[in-house]
Amino acid sequence: MTKKIVSLLLVCLLLTGCNQTAVDRAGTTVSSSEEAQISVTENTTEATENGTSATDSADTEESTTPVQPLPQPVSFWNPICNEYISLFPSTESTEAFATIPRGATIGLVNWEGRFARVVWDGKVGYVYSNCLQPAESDYFAKHLKVLTPTTKYTYDQMYADMGKLQALYPDLISLSTIGKSELMRDIPVMIVGNTDAKYHILVQAAIHGREHFTAWIAMAMMDSILKQGALPSDVCYHIIPMSNPDGVFISQSGKLEERQIQVYELDLDFGHTNSSTTEYATQWKANACGEDINRNFMAGWDVSNERDEQSAQKYRGETPFSASEARALRDYTLSRTFHATISLHSHGSVLYYQYGTKQPVNRLSYSLAQAVQGVTGYVPTAYDNTSGAGYKDWAMEELGIPSLTVEIGSAATPIPQQDIYNTFDRCRDMLPTVYKWVTQN
Ligand SMILES: [Zn+2]
Repeated sequence: MTKKIVSLLLVCLLLTGCNQTAVDRAGTTVSSSEEAQISVTENTTEATENGTSATDSADTEESTTPVQPLPQPVSFWNPICNEYISLFPSTESTEAFATIPRGATIGLVNWEGRFARVVWDGKVGYVYSNCLQPAESDYFAKHLKVLTPTTKYTYDQMYADMGKLQALYPDLISLSTIGKSELMRDIPVMIVGNTDAKYHILVQAAIHGREHFTAWIAMAMMDSILKQGALPSDVCYHIIPMSNPDGVFISQSGKLEERQIQVYELDLDFGHTNSSTTEYATQWKANACGEDINRNFMAGWDVSNERDEQSAQKYRGETPFSASEARALRDYTLSRTFHATISLHSHGSVLYYQYGTKQPVNRLSYSLAQAVQGVTGYVPTAYDNTSGAGYKDWAMEELGIPSLTVEIGSAATPIPQQDIYNTFDRCRDMLPTVYKWVTQN
């Protein structure tokens, strides 16, 4: 970890971390059967060390204090900090009731929204999930065969990893493209499983340039499933890790070409930005032409009018599907029957499951969101219906496919280093959960 990241995290903790408004609790609970009977034995230990007889009246009274059941941790984590992180009594509270020092070992019970429910030193509470890193030094090597963690997953690295995965699993993986970006980059799809399988699940990520970490997560989810040898024969995953390769390049390079400089000047004129060009480029969401691909779909496009001109974000385009990337996603989605679609975005640690009022797709998407919440801790959240014209909206409204927008990460976009750990841990079993849900609905 670089000093810069540690400083950033400290600033985050000091300025916002402890005072940030907490999100709603995910409602995830640990059933009584999962709870371990762990006693809080500080006094008992002290008595033994002092050689005090167990028959002393004071000790007898203490030893009969009801044993406090603590939830059973599923894995162990360390704080990311210079000195300590804060332990909160609930996800709504802004006042910490304890601090956990650097180097401590923390038991993770479950993820909940932007928090982790943890046990430490006989206490149960909540810490910000982006303040945790795995206690196991070989954590990623244990779960991944090809990918290594990075917050700047490039187009070239994605292609290289696809090639490596296909070489490792030639019978399971085929590579193709769904079309080209406005700057003529191929948009690849990694098809994992038998194309004649009964169930087909589509995952698309990085439709917004600055959300490029979602491309790594999409690839890592698949790497993890393959490493476990956990691919059922009746499912085929269609992974489109980078729907907007031009936008990803703009954000990662922090550079604007002539076309984007025109867009920058429009955003300046309309008061949509006052950033430097480098910061503006890093925060870029649109395609290379200043169209927001996720506002370019034919589902509420007519009322999606947050920008009148090309912009780094939120401009819906001249017409529905005017963006080549949106057409590529549309055509691929129409090419076969999909049983669920997952769109990865960042950030917020929430699941958007709703669009419009059509049934049963809204009811099914909510059910899918509840299943995904169970493994990720991300919180199902109703959409406000004011933006629309997104891929998920179209997949639901036009095609009736149960669909989710999964907003990974909790701190900022582009995702900072300290959010990698919890995000991968939450997502690594997401697709098997989606598969299981699909087979039951
Ligand atoms: Zn997004």
